[in-house]
Amino acid sequence: MLSPSLEDYLEEIYRFSLTNDVVRVTDIAACLDVSLPSVSSAIRKLSRDNYLAYRRYKEVALTDKGKRLGRFLVERNRILQDFLRMIRSECDVSAEAEAMEHYLTLPTIRSIENLVNFMNVHPEWYQKLIEHFTERKSAGKGLMNGYDQA
Ligand code: CA
Repeated sequence: MLSPSLEDYLEEIYRFSLTNDVVRVTDIAACLDVSLPSVSSAIRKLSRDNYLAYRRYKEVALTDKGKRLGRFLVERNRILQDFLRMIRSECDVSAEAEAMEHYLTLPTIRSIENLVNFMNVHPEWYQKLIEHFTERKSAGKGLMNGYDQA
């Protein structure tokens, strides 16, 4: 298993590689808004584990192993973002998915994927769910923030 930080590097490198022929260390630093030394260190670790290979100076290419894991990481992130939008969470969807992807286990994410898929296949049920949400909200029901001042 990669660390959450290395997973994020690989995820971003894979996402970047889908629309760009060449992946440079500087591109990834810009995408993730991190320093060049941090990217270089991550890339060294990922290439040591055979997820990446250096092509030439400061350019990297994903290996088959890297592509396989990268695809999974991008998919996992997408499923969680879809879920958060589906349940109409008023959170910062990308930040929340980012936190969830490193915490939830694969069985839980697969169940979430099934739920999202179910709602896509049965829009009439999804409609019911949204109506239920709306009713509860207008009735003032739901978890109260215990940190709020009384
Ligand atoms: Ca991520």
